[in-house]
Amino acid sequence: MIRVDDLHMHFGGIRAVDGASLEIAEGSITGLIGPNGAGKTTLFNVIAGHYTPTSGRVLLDGDDITGLPPHVLFGKGLLRTFQIAHEFSTLTVRENLMMVPDHQPGEALWSAWFRAGDVAEREREVATKADEVIDFLEISHVADELAGNLSGGQKKLLELGRTMMVDAKIVFLDEVGAGVNRTLLNTIGDAILRLNRERGYTFCMIEHDMDFISRLCDPVICMAEGTVLAQGTAEEVKNDERVIEAYLGTG
Ligand code: ATP
Repeated sequence: MIRVDDLHMHFGGIRAVDGASLEIAEGSITGLIGPNGAGKTTLFNVIAGHYTPTSGRVLLDGDDITGLPPHVLFGKGLLRTFQIAHEFSTLTVRENLMMVPDHQPGEALWSAWFRAGDVAEREREVATKADEVIDFLEISHVADELAGNLSGGQKKLLELGRTMMVDAKIVFLDEVGAGVNRTLLNTIGDAILRLNRERGYTFCMIEHDMDFISRLCDPVICMAEGTVLAQGTAEEVKNDERVIEAYLGTG
């Protein structure tokens, strides 16, 4: 589904991504692990269109999408979430869902709908969809709460919910489990698995929690120094000498 070919992203002398090649298969939940500074977030930023790479290519279903801006990729069903959730804190959970994820100010789907002139009908559709998402994620108890009052884990769940408001095909999750308590982590993990199995979502997720990774991900890719160090099942990667030396052995 996604193929990354010999990708480089340099910032001056810093080679954040330095010749990474990898594939994310359709229907997979691919885990991306590696030490701090390995280039994982930069790789996400390039794939999701926030940076144009120094060199190399990103293909989506065989089409070259290298350097396409986030809103164009969004239209192709490729979305990402952020390590720090980007909720609208003064809006409720339901209102946040109804805003539809939009990483490009001025490109909101709402503006297209306003132009189309069928606002009332569209608003009904979006409200119905938001209710479905609220049911799916079992967050009706906080649906009318201001998003700013949610816990860190609930905000991550809301981020996931916002990806569900559009027909996402592939979602890149940046540390969706970071700083989240065990109970909510399980809820988030269950939601990811159900979206994968029941709705056909493909995921690629950056995580540091190996238990969470082992439960959800196959395959797991380990990056170090801007390139791919190892790839395999969670078990294989956990036991890989190079991964232990570069990453797991350090903690
Ligand atoms: P972490 O697990 O800590 O989030 P990471 O694997 O996601 O790390 P990146 O955030 O991609 O790593 O960073 C890779 C390297 O690139 C780091 O040395 C970082 O300081 C550098 N880097 C990332 N973005 C920029 C930027 N915009 N300008 C300059 N250097 C950058």
